Amino acid sequence: MRRFISIILAPLLLLSLTGCFGPPVDPDTVQESIQVIAMDTPMLISTYGRRSTAAAYASEDLIRDLESRLSRTEADSAVSRLNRGETVEPDEDLTTLLRLASCFRDRTGGAFNIGVAPLVSAWGFTTDHNQVPAPSEISRLLKVVEETALQESPEGLTLGPDQAIDLGGIAKGYAADKLADLFREYEIPRAMAQLGGNVLAWGDRPDGTAWRVGVQDPARPGEQNAFAGILNLKNAFAVTSGGYQRYFEESGKRYHHIIDPATGYPADSDLTSVTVVADCTYDDCVGTLCDAFSTAFFIMGEEEALDGWREWQEESPSFFDLVLITEDGRVVVTQGLAESFTLDEGSGYTLEIVS
Ligand code: AMP
Ligand code: MG
Repeated sequence: MRRFISIILAPLLLLSLTGCFGPPVDPDTVQESIQVIAMDTPMLISTYGRRSTAAAYASEDLIRDLESRLSRTEADSAVSRLNRGETVEPDEDLTTLLRLASCFRDRTGGAFNIGVAPLVSAWGFTTDHNQVPAPSEISRLLKVVEETALQESPEGLTLGPDQAIDLGGIAKGYAADKLADLFREYEIPRAMAQLGGNVLAWGDRPDGTAWRVGVQDPARPGEQNAFAGILNLKNAFAVTSGGYQRYFEESGKRYHHIIDPATGYPADSDLTSVTVVADCTYDDCVGTLCDAFSTAFFIMGEEEALDGWREWQEESPSFFDLVLITEDGRVVVTQGLAESFTLDEGSGYTLEIVS
């Protein structure tokens, strides 16, 4: 009888052992995914590797912590306190962002300007009660924006009356930079982070191929998988700005959320979207730069954006590249992305590679 039992149990034991040990799992392909709604946008982060779960949860904590300190819609954030006229001692992140914002303002001829906040509010983009402000109100606020400056004292920083700052044009890029630091710390071999229009394609895909990042067709904003083309990327930031991402309509006219600090109105751009792509392996706020430049280049339009890109090409070749989608149906791709970008043939756009 005992022998009979062992004859039955032996194959079962063997089966369960092969079930447990099976073919070895490559730890670099173990995946964890989390979804977060933060910074006013849905975010999806997928991490791979031995510490994928710990890194995914740490990513969520990192984003929520940044939001609590940098968002102008969180009443207790440092930015909200500054905007209420309080004197604030900035922490390291805010200090870095204010320094970068000032540098990006200079480098974009004033198109990128965090001081545009009072205008963003007047158009109702912080409350979602959108309205077209009276021209007199726009003229008044343009003066406020122009004069916006942070006064430094031993107690901290203070804004002038009516002045306010809005980090919405760079905060997600900065969060992407911080995620890259976190992935380095947790030794994450590969990850995909989508923070609204800010993508961090870390490493490669588990099968060794590039991540496929869709560039949304601005003419079909609400549709999923409606792409003008696909970027095949390894180790890259890809940040998209466009008027289609947030807008309202009044009297048959569309008003979007990217405000031209020169006019006070939503930028009257000949572009419908701008994507800035750069290497994410430098430890140097490159994601923040991509975010600021995608916003600014959208405002500046095709010609000025390409001039800006060429200037950077002279200084640091291939530092970043662009995918511009124009009002007149072209997708303009700078040469560094010629091999990585594939036009969606059904989208109706024509492709131009520029150098
Ligand atoms: P993005 O989605 O990165 O292009 O940033 C758009 C957001 O940045 C808006 O929702 C505003 O919060 C803010 N913003 C709007 N216009 C500007 C501007 N000219 N410079 C800097 N930030 C801006
Ligand atoms: Mg931006």
